[in-house]
Amino acid sequence: MENASLTPLPGHLYVVATPIGNLADLTERARTLLGRVDCIACEDTRTTGSMLTRLGLHRELIPYHDHNETGASERITALLASGRSVAVVSDAGTPAISDPGFRIVRACRRQGLPVVPVPGPSALISALCAAGLPTNGFLYAGFLPPKTSARRAFLTKYQDFEYTLALYESCHRIVAFSEEILELLGPGRVVCIAREITKLHETFLVGAAADVCARLAKGSVKGEFVVLIAPADFTL
Ligand code: SAM
Repeated sequence: MENASLTPLPGHLYVVATPIGNLADLTERARTLLGRVDCIACEDTRTTGSMLTRLGLHRELIPYHDHNETGASERITALLASGRSVAVVSDAGTPAISDPGFRIVRACRRQGLPVVPVPGPSALISALCAAGLPTNGFLYAGFLPPKTSARRAFLTKYQDFEYTLALYESCHRIVAFSEEILELLGPGRVVCIAREITKLHETFLVGAAADVCARLAKGSVKGEFVVLIAPADFTL
């Protein structure tokens, strides 16, 4: 008998994680549900459309992104209330983790509509599980604000934090940010800069901030990055 969790239920919202680089990381459950829900709310219809085409799937797509989250949430909850099943995906990784998703999930919770997680890839967890920095607890702070003063204030505030800090950073600021870590937290602070996880040029730079900064300056700074900062007393 088929696993019941592979059949979308009427009126249910499925929060579906998608690959962060390697299509083979899509789970079997995610793939099956994406092919069976009535429609898919997605950040960018071209990105999700192209993933579905590669999977041989065709589904109605509803744009759901930072600029229409509130209006789109109303449309999606109306569809759910009428008995349709909806999956929400982002361009890559787990929806609602520095991606659209939170508002539709909150709207469903407020209205008593069931929300079902369909777990899978996330850059945050992928970096943490392979870095070798402490994972008994961590603070995920997403993207820091672009202003230098706000970024420095964050590092100063959490310099003595007892758990690992986890952040997303863009390729435009990764060098400057690693230099801020070096300056404010010291050359011996253990950090990990994980680049292009699950992709062709996957790289984990792990070590003392001074060493990681030097290696970063020598390599490519194209692509996507996760930054992890170990607690002050941690040694590799
Ligand atoms: N929701 C996604 C998740 O679960 O990981 C994150 C979306 S956020 C808009 C995109 C950021 O995640 C990138 O700028 C980068 O910091 C990080 N990221 C996404 N994919 C990555 C990858 N393959 N390697 C390293 N970092 C990645």
